[in-house]
Amino acid sequence: NLEIIFVGRSNVGKSSLLKELFGAKVKVGKRPGVTLRPTHAHVSDLLITDMPGFGFMSGVKDRKQDIVKDKTVHYIEDNAERVKIGVLVIDGPALPEIVDRWDSRDQIPIDVEMFDFLREIGIDTIVAANKMDRVKENEYDPLLDEIAVRLGLEPPWQNWKHIIAPISAKKGDLKALKGLLRDRLHEMKRDDLF
Ligand code: GDP
Repeated sequence: NLEIIFVGRSNVGKSSLLKELFGAKVKVGKRPGVTLRPTHAHVSDLLITDMPGFGFMSGVKDRKQDIVKDKTVHYIEDNAERVKIGVLVIDGPALPEIVDRWDSRDQIPIDVEMFDFLREIGIDTIVAANKMDRVKENEYDPLLDEIAVRLGLEPPWQNWKHIIAPISAKKGDLKALKGLLRDRLHEMKRDDLF
């Protein structure tokens, strides 16, 4: 069996993206109550997993980010055999500043930490840079270069088009991500999904 896991900070647009990609097949969005468990759905013969967003949640106080991070890491380690593709969803326009803010406190931002972790454990990782509809045309490539740098990928970002997929879940512009998923699934002989 084959699993695709979606991870990201809260509010990056992960629910919007999953809804656009899989429609009603994947139940996503703000789950009632405080749940830290992943949500699963079967789409064709794939298992789609939506991990809880890294971030703050009322009632769980400020350690939620660490709790979710640990749970995500354990989940992935426990299922590494099956998890073939990881989609890290980021807020494209916000990422450079977020990373720099954490860097200035000598901390590793969770997005970068997850990116490194997924790759280290051998998961084929795609970065879905969402909310690109907010970026002006002339700022588009420079922003993506900035994102690449923050992820430790040497610019120009176009060298990393097999990893970085600029998208807008809001506008339904998911071409780049669908293309990368299609390529991956094609290699695995499953090509009827996107
Ligand atoms: P999640 O917490 O990661 O699941 O994020 P949501 O899907 O709930 O979206 C968080 C906020 O970002 C909502 O206000 C969405 O309308 C907004 N959003 C999601 N995708 C996009 C996008 O592609 N562009 C813009 N401008 N806003 C988006």
